[in-house]
Amino acid sequence: METVHRFSFRLLPFSLAERCLKPSSATPRFRNLICGPTSSSNHIPKFIPARKSYSSSFSPIAKAGWFLGLGDKNKTSLPKIVNAGDPVLHEPAREVDPKEIGSDKIQKIIDDMVVAMRNAPGVGLAATQIGIPLRIIVLEDTKEYISYAPKEEIKAQDRRPFDLLVIINPKLKSKSNKTALFFEGCLSVDGFRAVVERHLDVEVVGLDRYGNHIKVDASGWQARILQHECDHLEGTLYVDKMVPRTFRTAENLTLPLAEGCPKLGVC
Ligand SMILES: [Zn+2]
Repeated sequence: METVHRFSFRLLPFSLAERCLKPSSATPRFRNLICGPTSSSNHIPKFIPARKSYSSSFSPIAKAGWFLGLGDKNKTSLPKIVNAGDPVLHEPAREVDPKEIGSDKIQKIIDDMVVAMRNAPGVGLAATQIGIPLRIIVLEDTKEYISYAPKEEIKAQDRRPFDLLVIINPKLKSKSNKTALFFEGCLSVDGFRAVVERHLDVEVVGLDRYGNHIKVDASGWQARILQHECDHLEGTLYVDKMVPRTFRTAENLTLPLAEGCPKLGVC
């Protein structure tokens, strides 16, 4: 998922944002990542991700060309993020065979996803966004990214930094009926934003890059990112579920919503 305020937005005025934001009455919750097995033996990488053996090369071939072994491994370009309209973004991705997680191929896909997300920069990415139709997502939010957003927005969105998460075969469920309406963007729909209603509290279970079972309890903005990325794995973009008449360019993000649109904030 795209950072809502990209770096180039730092100098833009945000006074209008306040008019769109309903102050959050929710007390910030600090539920952190909950991993599965916590004994040290379970955290020893089962598949020994020998990073130095992973080639940094990646040939950006959409529609899973790379996964099918069609890539040119001699190229050194960054993983390319595919854009809306590419079929890989509009079809469900397939599960990763747990036995394949330790393979160089899967480990390299994960590495490439992290590189692509950070290079964008974004706060989340699904494998489909680099043309790989597999159920893998990565996400992280940093103090630096958050520092570019207005304080009122950070509070309303319940946005807090969290470390890099890699989730394979994620399964998401909502943990409450509470929802929130906020703008979000997508690296595959670059330059645009729209309001999407998302659950405030979710639980995601899946596997980490070492094949360990993990469970993530998330709320606020992290929960939104998880929903956005898991939607990608179903072939759903945020524009498929946006609130009508809220779609706009990123430059117009802070302009008032059309009359009749629901107010931003916790519902
Ligand atoms: Zn996206």
